[in-house]
Amino acid sequence: MTTRLYNFNPGPAALPLEVLEEAKESTVQYGGRGISIMEMSHRSKPVEQLAAASEQLLLELTGLQQKDYRVLFMGGGASTQFAMLPSNFLSEGAVADYILSGSFSEKALQEAQYIGETRIAASSKAEHWQRTPDVRGLKVQANTAYVHMTTNNTIEGSRFNAFPETGETPLIVDMTSDLLSRDIDYNQFSMIYAGAQKNIGPAGITAVIIRNEMLDRCSKQIPLIWRYATYASNDSLYNTPPVHALYLTNLVLQWTKRQGGVQQLEAINRDKAALIYEAIDRSGGFYEGIIATTDRSDMNITWRLASKELEQLFVQESEQQGFEGLAGHRSVGGIRASAYNAVPRTACQALVEFMVDFQRRKG
Ligand SMILES: *Cc1c(COP(=O)(O)O)cnc(C)c1O
Repeated sequence: MTTRLYNFNPGPAALPLEVLEEAKESTVQYGGRGISIMEMSHRSKPVEQLAAASEQLLLELTGLQQKDYRVLFMGGGASTQFAMLPSNFLSEGAVADYILSGSFSEKALQEAQYIGETRIAASSKAEHWQRTPDVRGLKVQANTAYVHMTTNNTIEGSRFNAFPETGETPLIVDMTSDLLSRDIDYNQFSMIYAGAQKNIGPAGITAVIIRNEMLDRCSKQIPLIWRYATYASNDSLYNTPPVHALYLTNLVLQWTKRQGGVQQLEAINRDKAALIYEAIDRSGGFYEGIIATTDRSDMNITWRLASKELEQLFVQESEQQGFEGLAGHRSVGGIRASAYNAVPRTACQALVEFMVDFQRRKG
């Protein structure tokens, strides 16, 4: 077997090796049924059970109650949610509040602008996204349909540590890059969505966790296939879901539970990220963190070197030494290490050793 790389890809990202091995085992035969999961009807018992079990697991892992929330699985990625969300909940006469903290939050706003009236409720764009806006005292107006925010900014490497109190107004979050990576009160959100390919599975499937009362509010002016209520009343099987991606997601959720859930993972992730942040902060300016210390993400760790050339050399040499995915996003440059749940501590340690060695040679 070839050695596995130290995978710091931003997404699609590292999956637990255990999960990949398990999936390999059941690729040809699923549950001793003589065919694989990819070849089964989505109306078959195994697929129904997979959807139901994954819903249960995701609720359990987020500490949410079955009586309050549904979990829906659908295709299309998180970007589809940028458009589906306002289509369902932004009605005429109402305004959707968007908190801007990075480029994905701007993309979410952009799609909503095609659907209805929007307002920028807070933004850190003027500060080049180097921090997340303080939203603790956010004022919500009476005609606000919902407040939207991106809890972790994948491209910039920042996150929110505090969330606004929106009262009766639904707080809706894009948690694509931090779902199940930290122990927060998931009950404060009326809807959470996440493309699976960062923390909970492979690309091709998106999880939507939604409060029951939101399902009654879905627009009846839009096609059935765009309504969250359609997915809920059909247990995510209204049409063919990405079955194989659902299967892999289920394996990742089981793995997440075996790690001790979000409490344990938060501690592990904190420790992993701290290793890398310490290497940055101890470098005497050779490596320079981009994000304000208090708003640093544990999932996406970003920094710069003195020049573009030095950054390119860093990435090039890291690839020769078995590291994958360390180049910053094409829109911002620099270096980014994405240390999602499935990235082992040993990979972070190896990266720190590489950083120290690189500095010794080039500093
Ligand atoms: C990756 C990402 C997206 C885009 O996800 P797609 O599944 O590619 O549409 C949106 N929001 C955040 C926070 C992300 O990290």
